[in-house]
Amino acid sequence: MSVPVLLIHGGAGGDGSWGGPTKLDSGRIDCLTIILQEVGGALERNDISALQAVTIAVQIMEDEPLFNAGRGSVLDAQGDISMDASIMNGPDGAAGACAGLKKTKHPIALAKYLLESGWPVMMIGEGAEELGRDAGLEMVTSDWLKTDLRRAQWSKWQTTKDRPGSTDEDDGALAAILDHDPETERAPAGTVGAVALDIDGEMAAATSTGGLTGKTPGRIGDTAIIGAGTWADRRVAVSCTGIGEAYIRTAAAKRFADLFELTELTLADVGDRVLEEVVPLGGRGGLIALNSHGEFILPFHTTLMYRGVWVNGRITTAIGPDSSGEKGKS
Ligand code: ASP
Repeated sequence: MSVPVLLIHGGAGGDGSWGGPTKLDSGRIDCLTIILQEVGGALERNDISALQAVTIAVQIMEDEPLFNAGRGSVLDAQGDISMDASIMNGPDGAAGACAGLKKTKHPIALAKYLLESGWPVMMIGEGAEELGRDAGLEMVTSDWLKTDLRRAQWSKWQTTKDRPGSTDEDDGALAAILDHDPETERAPAGTVGAVALDIDGEMAAATSTGGLTGKTPGRIGDTAIIGAGTWADRRVAVSCTGIGEAYIRTAAAKRFADLFELTELTLADVGDRVLEEVVPLGGRGGLIALNSHGEFILPFHTTLMYRGVWVNGRITTAIGPDSSGEKGKS
């Protein structure tokens, strides 16, 4: 028997120092808190498995327009939404992933459907959504998915045309349009993710996103890719957020699992190493991870990462750099 743990994130972002919470942040923290209370409580009562926990947690964040996933996803260069999601179950390595979704209300539900179906593991675009519709998943219009906040953010992006994922260092562009730009609310919200350990000692990980504002139409990020944005096995569960290209090129989530399995590094050292490795590739961001002993970490290299922990009925949420209580053990 294990003491259950639930970690969630609502995306990483920003380059500079943290200026404190914005007006919209209370809505985000409320959402994280409700998830931790409800899903954490259900894990504690053994009502749900780790796989169910991460699915429900991500689905609730997809419903919250202040996060960049599901409704409230950011807009691409043409002002359209396309969403990516993936999910993995630790005990059997079952996985599901989907990309380029434009109508699916809950991308993580489609990823979970693929996981349960067993084949195919990964699908894109219309074919994926047709399958989802046939499976009874809820479809919505692209207009419903686009919020005023995102439209405003996109209009702002049009004036600067920052390359999504660019940094001040690499091409002198203005601040990158990663999810959360603390300077203003012009680039708010974030990719969402969850990792969980249940009473049976089993783990799962799930991640969902609208990607990066102004992304090239057709671009797929790490969130859709098992081993890049999401990984779970019998030892660890990981969900990443940040400039997806660098996470793809380093196979960040699987790299995390391999370093943990094959070296003597601690969980925290593995987290630092993985995040350091994405930096030279123009990446920055964060991750949440836990192991089968209930140890967990929530490191990030950006200004902030919306995040929350449920362990033993104790709930912690945070946005900025204060990391007290964030390396823990159940
Ligand atoms: N990793 C996501 C992507 O590149 C974005 C994010 O995490 O904010 O699509």
